[in-house]
Amino acid sequence: MALINENYLKLHGSYLFAEIAKRVAKFKGENPDANVIRLGIGDVTRPLPDAIIQAMHKAVDEMADEKTFRGYGPEQGYDFLIEKIIKNDYAARGIHLGMDEVFVSDGAKSDCGNIQEIFGIDNIVAVTDPVYPVYVDSNAMAGRAGEIGADGKWSRIAYMPCTSENNFIPQLPQTRPDLIYLCFPNNPTGMTLSKDDLKKWVDYARANKSIILFDSAYEAYIQEKDVPHSIYEIEGAREVAIEFRSFSKTAGFTGTRCAYTIVPKEVEAYTEKGEAIPLNKLWNRRQTTKFNGVPYIIQRGAEAVYTEEGQKQIKELVQYYMSNAKIIKEGLESVGLKVFGGVNAPYIWLKTPNDMDSWDFFDKLLNEANIVGTPGSGFGPSGKGYFRLTAFGNRESTEEAVERFRKKLKL
Ligand SMILES: *Cc1c(COP(=O)(O)O)cnc(C)c1O
Repeated sequence: MALINENYLKLHGSYLFAEIAKRVAKFKGENPDANVIRLGIGDVTRPLPDAIIQAMHKAVDEMADEKTFRGYGPEQGYDFLIEKIIKNDYAARGIHLGMDEVFVSDGAKSDCGNIQEIFGIDNIVAVTDPVYPVYVDSNAMAGRAGEIGADGKWSRIAYMPCTSENNFIPQLPQTRPDLIYLCFPNNPTGMTLSKDDLKKWVDYARANKSIILFDSAYEAYIQEKDVPHSIYEIEGAREVAIEFRSFSKTAGFTGTRCAYTIVPKEVEAYTEKGEAIPLNKLWNRRQTTKFNGVPYIIQRGAEAVYTEEGQKQIKELVQYYMSNAKIIKEGLESVGLKVFGGVNAPYIWLKTPNDMDSWDFFDKLLNEANIVGTPGSGFGPSGKGYFRLTAFGNRESTEEAVERFRKKLKL
């Protein structure tokens, strides 16, 4: 008799986006003529920049010729891409990485979800609340999260509330965590940590032999000076941090798929007997065993991000979305809503008026203004009373949405 991994049964279904789809379908059924604007899902909408398209076309042609055809590539990624990542994304900020510290992958979601495999089952995991669900669910699947309670919290996960009361800056949890997931600029709140804030976490991890799993998927959206792009800008981080990056939001690769993870040689975790083991070695073993690399064509596309044209084009892309963010932020503030994020990230996190329940606000916004957003409570208990809008729409519908907040929403 084949047995299942019963940890999967403890997970709630993907309630959030399924419930949103259900409510939108019902509304559309009852209001077939309504022009519904979707500012809910965190996916980009602009086409890939031309420099990337050109590079991928060229790579496709190489695959058609026996002399330039490529089969399996290195599991860790091609050197041509790794060199450019190191030079442009790190060396330019004074961070020095070795070629074997960069692991190219098919997504930060996969890497964030898979990284827990190289850690023991008894580690205490800390996450911010609200949170990108992958960190929590992947640990729950592995049996590291304990049991889920009526409040939606897992018994063995340490939650660090991020609300307007603490300016969305996570505070150290009561229980000492071994693995700490941080995502800044943050999805869903759109808020950031300063270098000093992040330094506290690096110092804590060094003092406690904890590991920080730092998701910097939105680093390209940072506009302000004091916000760290990489955790390795903080002294000592090479000893305690793994960093996840992605071309998804940076260069429009959500459907094209390319990302990378940095595992410095100094980062170590321990055996039960207390022997220090480099995590770089374990992650390399994990990737070479279970992953066969990102397609050559896609890696050539990613490489083109670092050409002069590519850099110019992706900056335009990011600015397009950030102009949307500004339009939403200012528009919502002008009708008296309390709004967070939207300055260094493509997410606007609004406080619902009169502490309205997140789902009640979802219904109100859909019914009165025909706008779809994401209820904050779907990202964790501390998201209750908040609501997420994204800047990934096109300009016209973003402006129209703001207009409807002004004219249609009864506040
Ligand atoms: C979009 C996003 C990613 C990127 O995931 P990919 O798999 O690379 O597309 C990673 N982390 C967070 C928090 C995200 O919102």
